[in-house]
Amino acid sequence: MLLNDIYERSLEGKITKKDAAGLLKANPFELFDTADAVRKELVGDDVSYVVNRNINFTDKCTGTCRFCAFRNHVGYFLTTDEILARVEGAKRFGATEVCIQGGLQPNMYLNDYVSMLEAIKSKYEIDIHAFSPMEVYHMSKMTGVTVAHSLNALKEAGLCSMPGTAAEILDDGIRAEICPGKLNTKEWIDVVTTAHRTGIPTTATMMYGHIETWKHRIDHLFIIRDIQRETHGITEFVPLTFMGKNNPLGESLIKAGKQAGVSGLDDLRMYALARLIFGRDLVNVQASWVKLSPKLAQVALHCGANDIGGTLMEESISRTAGSTSGECMSPGEMRDIIRQAGRNPRQRNTLYKLV
Ligand code: SF4
Repeated sequence: MLLNDIYERSLEGKITKKDAAGLLKANPFELFDTADAVRKELVGDDVSYVVNRNINFTDKCTGTCRFCAFRNHVGYFLTTDEILARVEGAKRFGATEVCIQGGLQPNMYLNDYVSMLEAIKSKYEIDIHAFSPMEVYHMSKMTGVTVAHSLNALKEAGLCSMPGTAAEILDDGIRAEICPGKLNTKEWIDVVTTAHRTGIPTTATMMYGHIETWKHRIDHLFIIRDIQRETHGITEFVPLTFMGKNNPLGESLIKAGKQAGVSGLDDLRMYALARLIFGRDLVNVQASWVKLSPKLAQVALHCGANDIGGTLMEESISRTAGSTSGECMSPGEMRDIIRQAGRNPRQRNTLYKLV
């Protein structure tokens, strides 16, 4: 059964924080049905995916994020030739995108990031989705230039779009607990909106399920909606459920007898709330198969999501934190998962254009 008033107001862009909080007490199946109906109205039954490859060029990092199981796990740093070999492999796999992120370096400057982009662009025609807001902030500080300067240089060198990672929970109290040393809420918003003004679209993310409350999650969703209303530069929203293994944050929660991560039901509530709050402002919501598992991602496609992300080819960040969903999914498997969920698979590129 639909929550008719909520359905109408979602499409009119009028969901309030009070509505969102109230929806947590609603019958979850009515909440999911309503989000699903808004999804159907806005984007129909197509479910998109991107054929891409993750390249994490280093796991060495000076950061101190307490949820991170990736930092210094192996202690590697890819050379330019090794990065190019991975891009070559991505091209052979049929990828249209490489997603490049790495740890924070004490000795890497804007020029090094620009050179990486130029080296790839000089050899390959492929979309480069790269560098988190934290990396852009860090490279700007290291180099002594403004964020706007860095973004212009990256765009000039061929950057297509940026992952809106490093958002975690956009609340400075929570950030001080889980990622002290990372850019703060205002700085994250500043990097992302400056990227949009520079002509670089970004995704937006939220890592939920650790020490934050539903109020923090809802506030975060409204921050993303407000950014989108101002810049229209966000291509999709990607909720990232917290993985609690092999990291100090997860271990401290478990030690204190608390849950590290949320229930599948709360994962689905996140998808539904995002869909309803964003309405027409931001129509792409991704169910990450790596984080959720392919089966829960299929269910999320009936609770508001309309995209299942990328093939990835290699995935270290979730795997080191306990994900067992695998590192690579072939385009055929992606299409099967979507079809089995009763929807139409559509391959897209980084900017959500159909391929
Ligand atoms: S999340 Fe990123 S910035 Fe933070 S410690 Fe891990 S690799 Fe470093």
